[in-house]
Amino acid sequence: MAITQKTDDIQRQQQATKWDTERSVELYGVRDWGSDYFDISADGNAVVSIQFGDSTVQVPIIDIVNGMKERGLEMPAVLRIENLLDQRIKQLNEAFANAIKQADYQSYYRGVFPIKVNQQCHVIEEIADFGRHYHHGLEAGSKAELIIALSQLKDHDSLIICNGYKDAEFIDLGLYARQMGIPCFFVIETLSELPIILARSAALGIEPLIGVRIRLASMVEGHWNEDSGDRSIFGLSTNALLDVVEQLKQSNMLHCLQMLHSHLGSQIPNIRNIRTGVLEACRFYTGLIEEGAPMGYIDLGGGLAVDYEGTRTNTTHSMNYSLEEYCSNIVETIQESFEPLGIAHPVIVSESGRALVAYSSMLLFNILDVRDHKPGKLPETLPEDSHDLLGNLFYVLQNVTLKNLQECYNDSLYYRDEMREEFHRGQSSLRERALAENISLAILEKISELLPQATRISPELETLPELLSDIYYGNFSLFQSLPDIWAMDQIFPIMPIHRLGEEPTRNAVLADITCDCDGKIDSFAHADGIRKTLPLHALKDNEEYYLSVFLVGAYQETLGDLHNLFGDTNVVSVHINEDGSFDFVREFHGDSIADVLSYVEYDPKVMEEQFRRIAEQAVRDGKITVSVRQQILKAFREGMQGYTFFER
Ligand SMILES: *Cc1c(COP(=O)(O)O)cnc(C)c1O
Repeated sequence: MAITQKTDDIQRQQQATKWDTERSVELYGVRDWGSDYFDISADGNAVVSIQFGDSTVQVPIIDIVNGMKERGLEMPAVLRIENLLDQRIKQLNEAFANAIKQADYQSYYRGVFPIKVNQQCHVIEEIADFGRHYHHGLEAGSKAELIIALSQLKDHDSLIICNGYKDAEFIDLGLYARQMGIPCFFVIETLSELPIILARSAALGIEPLIGVRIRLASMVEGHWNEDSGDRSIFGLSTNALLDVVEQLKQSNMLHCLQMLHSHLGSQIPNIRNIRTGVLEACRFYTGLIEEGAPMGYIDLGGGLAVDYEGTRTNTTHSMNYSLEEYCSNIVETIQESFEPLGIAHPVIVSESGRALVAYSSMLLFNILDVRDHKPGKLPETLPEDSHDLLGNLFYVLQNVTLKNLQECYNDSLYYRDEMREEFHRGQSSLRERALAENISLAILEKISELLPQATRISPELETLPELLSDIYYGNFSLFQSLPDIWAMDQIFPIMPIHRLGEEPTRNAVLADITCDCDGKIDSFAHADGIRKTLPLHALKDNEEYYLSVFLVGAYQETLGDLHNLFGDTNVVSVHINEDGSFDFVREFHGDSIADVLSYVEYDPKVMEEQFRRIAEQAVRDGKITVSVRQQILKAFREGMQGYTFFER
C-alpha cells in the first residue's frame, strides 16, 4: 500500500510539472465559449480581454475581486463588465450594417433591447447611453417596462416596441410618447387590444403606430421553442390577422399598420430555423402590403443564440452560426423575398436580448468546504480476529488488476452491503462498518485509477469517476443567482479564476448553500459534450478558492427567488480603461437579512422589540446579566444588518 501511494505521488508530480495554462485553456474551453472576451493569462489567471482599436487589454478577474474585497463587497457577487455590454451593442449593429452594405440592401437596421432580459437600471442606462450612437431602442412587455423605456431613451430615432397585453393606461402612455415624436409601436398580440387602442387614439386625438405579431407555423428546435408554431400562446392566427386589417380599414386607420412582428423563441441553435422563420414572416409582410397596409418595418424578435458550450453545433446550449451569418441570412432572405415583387426594403428590427447581455455578467463565488470521497487511512494488515467480511474486502483490495476490474467492483459493493446488513442486525460494530466502507472506497478508487487503461468498460464502471467525485460547496444560491440551471437545465461555462497554471487534480460537482438537493450543478460544458463533473484544484489552507460562472447576464438576475431567504447578491460594475486600469463605476450591496425578512412581511423593528423582551425576561429570571443582554442584542442587530450569504 505504502509503496503504491508513493508511486502515485511521483506520477502526480510529474504530471504537475507538465501542466501549463494552455492545457487549462483546452480543458475549460475558454477560447471556445469566451468569444475573444475571456482567456487565461500566462501566469494562470482568468482574464477579461477588451479591444481598444488594434490593441487588446487583459485584466485578471482576481484583481477585480481583490478590489471588491477592499471595498467591503464580499462573495458571492455579480460582476458586470461595462465594456462587454458596449462591445456587444457595437458588434450587433455593425454586423447588420455590414450585411446591409454587402447586399446593397436599400434600408437600415434598428435594434431594440427587450428589457425583460435584464431590467437592472445600470444595464438599461448603459444600453440607452452607448446604444444611442446606433439608435438602439428598447422593447417593453409591460407598463413598468414602458415607463423604464420612456425615461431612459433620449434619442428620438430609437424605437420603442410595446409587446404584451396593453390596457388603456399602457396605451395612453405610448400615445403620449408618439405625440412627443418618439417612434413607439404597439404590437397587437390579441384581437381584444385593438378596440382599446382605437378608442384611446380617438379620445386623445393621437394616431398610433401599429404592428401585428403573427404566429409562425415554422417550428424551432431548442429549449425555448414554445413561442413557435400553431400552439404558441402569443401572436395572431391568420384569421385574427385579417380581422385586424378589416377593423383598421373600417376605422380608416389602415395607414397606421406599419410593422410586422414575429418572435420564434429564444436561443435558436440552428440557422436553418431562422431562415425559414424570416421567409414565412416575409410572406405575411407581402400579404399585408397586398391588403393595402403601408408597412415599412419588419421585426424579427429575439432568438440570436449564445454558444454557452462553445461547440458551434446546433445543440440546445450552442449555435451553428456566427453573428455575421445571422445578419447576412436575415438581410439576404428579406431581399430575395421582396426584390422580385418590387416591394420596398423594410427597416429591419431585431430584439436580441440574450446575445446582447449574456457576456457582460459573471457570478463570482468562493468555495466554503469540500466533501471528498477519498478513503481514510487504512491499516497495513488486519488483526487476526477481524470480521470475515473485512478479510474478504481486504483481499479484494490487494488483488485489483486491470483484468478483474468488474469482478472487484462487484465484490467490493457486495461485501460492503453485507456488512451494512450485519450492522443492521446488531452483528457488527460501528468501527467495523466504518472500516468496511473505507476499504470498499479504496477498492473503487483503485479501479477508477485503472479505468483509463481498460479497453472495455461496463456502463456501471463508466459512472464510477462521477460516483467518486468530490462535492465543492460554493457560497451562492442557485435559486437566487442561476435560476435557469434549476428550472431549465441551462448550461453555463464555469471555471476557476486563478491557479490555472496548476493541474486541477480533483473532479467535483458543485453544491450551493441552500442545502436543497436541487441546489447543485452537475452538468458542465466541455469540448466533447456535456460532462457530469468539473475538474478543480484541491483547496489550500488559508487561501480562498474562487470560481466564476460566466455568461450569466441574460435572464438570471431578476428571475431569482428567495429560496431559504438568500437575497440579492452584491453587484459591481467595472469599466476597463485603455491602460489596463479599471474603475468601479457602480456598487450595489446585496440584500441584508432585514431586507429579505421585510420581503416576506416581517418588520425587523418589531422583531427586535420582541427579541428584546425575551432577553429582558432572561435577565429577570437570573439567566443572564444585563451586560450579557447587551451583547446578545448587539449580535441580533448585527445579524439583521448582515449579508444573507456566508461571511468570513
Ligand atoms: C424574450 C423576448 C425577446 C428576447 O429574446 P432573446 O432570445 O433573448 O434575444 C425578444 N422579443 C420578445 C417578444 C420576447 O418575448
